[in-house]
Amino acid sequence: MTKPLILKVAIPAVPFFQHFEYLAPDDSQHLQAGIRLEVPFGKTSKIGFLIATSFKNDYAIEKLKPITRVIDDVPLLAEIDLKLLHWVAGYYHHPIGEVMSAAFPVALRQGKDAVIKKLPKIVEVETKNSPLICNEAQQNAIDKISATLGEFNVFVLDGVTGSGKTEVYMQLIQTVLDREQQVLVLVPEITLTPQLQQRFQARFNTLIAISHSKLTDLQRKNAWLLMQRGACSLLLGTRSALFTPLPNIGLIILDEEHDSSFKQQEGFRFSARDVAVMRGKLANVPVVLGSATPSLESLYNVKNQRYHHLLLPERAGNSLPPLVHVIDIRQQKLQQGLSTRLMTEIHATLAKDEQVLLFLNRRGFAPTLICDGCGWVARCTHCDANLVIHRNKNLLRCHHCGTEHQLISTCPACQSPELTSLGLGTERLESVLTRLFPDKIVLRLDRDSTQKKGALEDFLTQIHDGEAHIILGTQLLAKGHHFPNVTLVAILDVDSGLFSTDFHSGEKLAQLIVQVSGRAGRELKQGKVLLQTRQPDHPLLTELLRDGYAKFAALALAEREMANLPPFSYQALLRAHSENEELPQTFLNAVAELAQTFNPQKVQILGAIPAPMARRAGLYRFQLLFQHANRSALHHLLKQLVPEISTLKLAAKVRWSLDVDPVDLY
Ligand code: ADP
Ligand code: ZN
Ligand code: ZN
Repeated sequence: MTKPLILKVAIPAVPFFQHFEYLAPDDSQHLQAGIRLEVPFGKTSKIGFLIATSFKNDYAIEKLKPITRVIDDVPLLAEIDLKLLHWVAGYYHHPIGEVMSAAFPVALRQGKDAVIKKLPKIVEVETKNSPLICNEAQQNAIDKISATLGEFNVFVLDGVTGSGKTEVYMQLIQTVLDREQQVLVLVPEITLTPQLQQRFQARFNTLIAISHSKLTDLQRKNAWLLMQRGACSLLLGTRSALFTPLPNIGLIILDEEHDSSFKQQEGFRFSARDVAVMRGKLANVPVVLGSATPSLESLYNVKNQRYHHLLLPERAGNSLPPLVHVIDIRQQKLQQGLSTRLMTEIHATLAKDEQVLLFLNRRGFAPTLICDGCGWVARCTHCDANLVIHRNKNLLRCHHCGTEHQLISTCPACQSPELTSLGLGTERLESVLTRLFPDKIVLRLDRDSTQKKGALEDFLTQIHDGEAHIILGTQLLAKGHHFPNVTLVAILDVDSGLFSTDFHSGEKLAQLIVQVSGRAGRELKQGKVLLQTRQPDHPLLTELLRDGYAKFAALALAEREMANLPPFSYQALLRAHSENEELPQTFLNAVAELAQTFNPQKVQILGAIPAPMARRAGLYRFQLLFQHANRSALHHLLKQLVPEISTLKLAAKVRWSLDVDPVDLY
């Protein structure tokens, strides 16, 4: 009797690490890894991904069921894609079904046909922008990278804001397109895609596939399939575009590589930057990591000569670096967060018909509603957090769990009508500025004001067309924008970033200051940057402003080394949460105990301790930190530990997740 063919299938959304086995239909020797299948699963059916076929079964053969149907005739993923996904599942200790699922757009995960419904228009020929004449630093970067096409190398393109990194990308892309190969360009968030998309469209005579979370499932499926078929050569997208199959890949570019949105913060917590590097390695192509403020990890890799350092030390063209001033706001009377000096500068800038950009990283009207009568504060009942006042919508809203209440006008504790809005959010700043500058157009850019589809693009157009005079907003504004007529930039509250307990916070604040400052004076007019602070002598500020980001980063790295923190050690964070206050801690303590049974290399296990926000969305949250100076020691332990965790009795009663290389400890 011939042995039956076994299909090894990865199934998403099931909390198991292993693959599942099914019986192949008759005459299915041709089935190849990388196709989708529909399989019976419990009482329902699921879409799974074939990862291997074999005549060997791991489970009892009489228990195996036949699959329901084969969805794809030809594999959607190539061998190299599968190889990357297996590596990723291993590195992040994450179920293969979930990892495979992340590689597909939603429509294909749901089993929809892998056909391109609406073919894109084959491209209109219009006059294209020609390449600029590069300066020496740009040309050097282009030459160095071009010389290694067809080999794996990682380049950190470390170029000050406005140094023309995008021009470097575009000339490299053209070279790769001329070789008839594909390019993957990743940006941190969709705010950057419309701009880059426009610049690319104005330059390249080729179809550009776009992929980010604001597009429809159909659009994303089309972009994915166009690349997968090799029908398109340029893909511009965010983190989730990383796994798109590229049969003819020639180059990977990650812009703003330091940005933490390259790290997925829930579910499958991968770092798009780190996985992009592995992808480049498997595919033998160069990977370019661009930033004006490279991450400490990347700079450390430069120091170790694992990555190549390419510097663009000066702004391109004729534009000058902005002048940065600190405004000491101690003992100053602020007008709704604005110092007298800042007000004067805003007036002067507007008088010259130039634009002002104000940065405040706090959405809503005000962060706190407090009763003057009894001191009652509006708190979220589900989180350790205050409710934020959203006056435009007449709401109190929790920024952590989304809970909303009507805005109240009397205190629920003492019935006093004297309720005060404490602190400054973007909504409040907008109303203040509109009052102070009645004949000017004030534009607020934050997550609330850009929710509607197309709103962000409209705002960006208004800024570019000079229709807006004062632009205020949150970190949406910090990222890579090129606003030629903005000459004054102010950060209203630098101090909120100075006192975090997370060791990453100094690096993040320094990056933010440099990035926001970099929006000033990007063309012919020199820009000015004002930082309002009550900590004018804080070493982070003085060092950063005196010596620049590179020196700051070197010092910060030295501090990390002293403290044995990443990148001088490797971490993984196991989080657990539950409605029950006791369970997460008991569970994590049991995990810690279990871990000690196979921990000959003495990986440090710290905790369980409460998460920095100990209660969120009604859940009590605890965490356990694993750390070791040696990456493989840490991973060796995790590899043995993680599959065993689900055997613990409490594992089914709490929700838990592992975060490898966490970027924030929340
Ligand atoms: P970055 O991405 O480094 O912040 P950009 O690529 O946005 O910088 O470039 C900033 C500005 O400088 C843009 O207006 C760009 O067109 C211009 N620019 C770039 N390279 C050159 C060059 N070699 N000569 C003249 N202008 C340049
Ligand atoms: Zn009260
Ligand atoms: Zn809440």
